[in-house]
Amino acid sequence: MKPHHIETLLSSEQVSTRISMMANEITKQLPQDLMVIALLRGSFVFTADLIRAFYASGTKPQVDFMTLDSYGSDTTSKGSVTIIRDITENVEGRDVLLVDDILESGRTLSFAKKLIEERHPRSVNIAVMLEKPGHRKAEIDADFVGFKIPDKFVVGMGLDYANYYRELPYIGAVEFE
Ligand code: 5GP
Ligand code: MG
Repeated sequence: MKPHHIETLLSSEQVSTRISMMANEITKQLPQDLMVIALLRGSFVFTADLIRAFYASGTKPQVDFMTLDSYGSDTTSKGSVTIIRDITENVEGRDVLLVDDILESGRTLSFAKKLIEERHPRSVNIAVMLEKPGHRKAEIDADFVGFKIPDKFVVGMGLDYANYYRELPYIGAVEFE
């Protein structure tokens, strides 16, 4: 890691309030019997908070995980996506909610969406905790977005820098010195 410090961008209170709102929005708009597919590793904290908020809002999801790799260990995208671990649930005829930490180039989510769509789900929606503008390479939009953030490299709530900082209960921007 290069010399850096972390500046708070979104407090843990802001994040948790927004995740509860998102759960309400999703519960209003999508069927109760959702198949949540979390894209690992970055989305594990957001997914955990979101599904617990579903407990209050009334969605009763099943949950599976898919591990994709798109970033390597540094702070720039590699430009290609590979599957490290696939889901094990059958999504045919299901209403799928793909969950990811952040939408940047869109490569990860468009890859995952295509992969799921080939398996004939009834619908595929996308929820992301964060969206970063200006780097879109694939034509894809999220149906549910927590926060639009400035063009900074962020960590916390599952997002890492060299696999560190995933435990931060807030979103921080990495400021290089
Ligand atoms: P995309 O494929 O949309 O370019 O990027 C999505 C993936 O890149 C995310 O799932 C995340 O793992 C990683 N990523 C994009 N921007 C950031 C960032 O600011 N911080 C961190 N830690 N990861 C990011
Ligand atoms: Mg990721």
